[in-house]
Amino acid sequence: NSLERLQKVIAQSGITSRRKAEKMISEGKVAVNGKVVTELGTKVTPDDKVEVEGVPLTKEEPVYFLLYKPRGVISSVKDDKNRKVVTDYLPEDTEERVFPIGRLDYDTSGILLLTNDGDFANQLMHPKHEIDKVYIAKTKGIPLKEELAKLTKGIKSDGELLRATHVKTKSVDKKKNTAIIQLTLHEGKNRQVRRMFEALGYPVDKLKRERYGFLDLHGMNAGEIRELTPHEVKQLR
Ligand code: URA
Repeated sequence: NSLERLQKVIAQSGITSRRKAEKMISEGKVAVNGKVVTELGTKVTPDDKVEVEGVPLTKEEPVYFLLYKPRGVISSVKDDKNRKVVTDYLPEDTEERVFPIGRLDYDTSGILLLTNDGDFANQLMHPKHEIDKVYIAKTKGIPLKEELAKLTKGIKSDGELLRATHVKTKSVDKKKNTAIIQLTLHEGKNRQVRRMFEALGYPVDKLKRERYGFLDLHGMNAGEIRELTPHEVKQLR
């Protein structure tokens, strides 16, 4: 009874995502009852002693945060080059191993969720979940309506089809030759918004994610963080 796959148990402990847990198992970083295990199918019970890089798994209380990520911050828990990372914004007394749910580019600002709940993170990042991610982009040049329509049809970039569910021009500045465009994605592919506009011929100058599902940045400034309420967490699931 209660046999669970090793990668699931690791993800649930909050250390990392299930995918990264699989990688760590394959790399020999995980031991069960003192023996290194590299087999991904391995199942464990709650009585088995699991260690990741020599540190025993302990079940943490799940915590959930909403960060207004500023530009110039890495969506990671540490950086080789010592640049600012999103977990630098956690309340000082945070002891849980919190990581970002997905990523925003270094130069992108906006809403980013952080948690130590690996299952929750995996759930939200799965494309099937179809969470609205709403972005505001400032483009160099002013795309025509017909051109923007290509973004909802799907546009090819590096052999990948990238699609927005909604696109809307909010304003244009003819003098500066720029436009402010709102677009909604369900997908979250690497640098997706920037690549979509590059493919269209209008590079993105500034990018902000203003909404994630029903969550927005109302009343917050860049660099501010708050805990999600239990009700908000429930609504996201
Ligand atoms: N699309 C991008 O291009 N960058 C982000 O940070 C998020 C979505």
